[in-house]
Amino acid sequence: MTPLEQALAQIRADVRAAHAYVVQPSAGVIKLDAMENPYRLPAELQRALGERLGALALNRYPAERTAELARALARHAGVGDDVGVTLGNGSDELIGLLTIAVAKPGATVLAPVPGFVMYEALARQQRLNFIGVPLRADDFELDEPAMLAAIAEHQPALIYLAYPNNPTATLWGAAVIERIAKAAPGLVVMDEAYQPFASADSLALMARQPNVLVMRTMSKFGLAGVRIGYLLGARELVDQIEKLRPPYNISVLNAEAAFFALEHAEVYAAQAAELRQQRERLFAALQAMPGITPWPSQGNMILARVQDAAATFAALKARGVLIKNVSALHPLLANCVRLTVGTPDENTSLLQALEACLN
Ligand code: PMP
Repeated sequence: MTPLEQALAQIRADVRAAHAYVVQPSAGVIKLDAMENPYRLPAELQRALGERLGALALNRYPAERTAELARALARHAGVGDDVGVTLGNGSDELIGLLTIAVAKPGATVLAPVPGFVMYEALARQQRLNFIGVPLRADDFELDEPAMLAAIAEHQPALIYLAYPNNPTATLWGAAVIERIAKAAPGLVVMDEAYQPFASADSLALMARQPNVLVMRTMSKFGLAGVRIGYLLGARELVDQIEKLRPPYNISVLNAEAAFFALEHAEVYAAQAAELRQQRERLFAALQAMPGITPWPSQGNMILARVQDAAATFAALKARGVLIKNVSALHPLLANCVRLTVGTPDENTSLLQALEACLN
């Protein structure tokens, strides 16, 4: 064996066999594949942010500012100082920390499927069992009997419920969720990544049910490039996650950009309101198109079934519009594409491109 081969042989076989997360190249295209907010800050605010960032002491590790940001985000969410809060470098990192926290040998992570892929990927990284409980095929609602049976059988340490769900954009029934949370023997994480676009949240449930945590992110708010996620819940639980958090996971630059965004929350709120309107416009237009079946959305994306998802993806790409073909994620998503809601002009281009490729 060469020294390189010897070194490689030390890496876990399952890691060597795995694929890295693929980000689609997007230079020069209308990017409607990743649920980003298409809007930047107005130019004068962008300049002011640049000045704030330019004045930071980058020679020092992040310190008290991280804890201040965590509290500021908790206040922004509307919870009191009795609620625990910790920060992740995006909610992806929090999912990783939650998974590590429950990673006793043989432990189970459970989530409805199709759902956000990182729940399963990070459970498998920790060599945990992952149980995916299929959603109802027609409306992508939670299958309550199947969820309760899977909970009784597998006793999951951790359940993820994305509220609204990705990629289906469904806001599941609150009463069903409450019954699931009560039946759960462990942690229930309400992943509210798409909360800025939804008509409800889980904070009241969290207050009633101490095993329920709420996870949010600034990514869909408009800061996907900044990487700030936060986890709210009972102090005793959040304190355990805090022990696993790398001490300097939130850069000085990220924290300051997040503070700046909170100071200008009304700008982002107006953007979210515009995107919610555009979502309704896009949904109505898609519904009127023969050969496309969209599902109602409470996120900034729309899941739709087309006749041939691979062909639709390729035809849109050829016209400069990048979407996500989610068909391969789960059998329930056969010939489904996920369309992120963009600016009015981007949505017009999307609809024109779809019309052209359907005709
Ligand atoms: N949860 C859900 C449901 C998501 O769809 C995503 C990203 N698309 C995330 C979490 C991760 O978000 P972040 O950018 O905060 O890592």
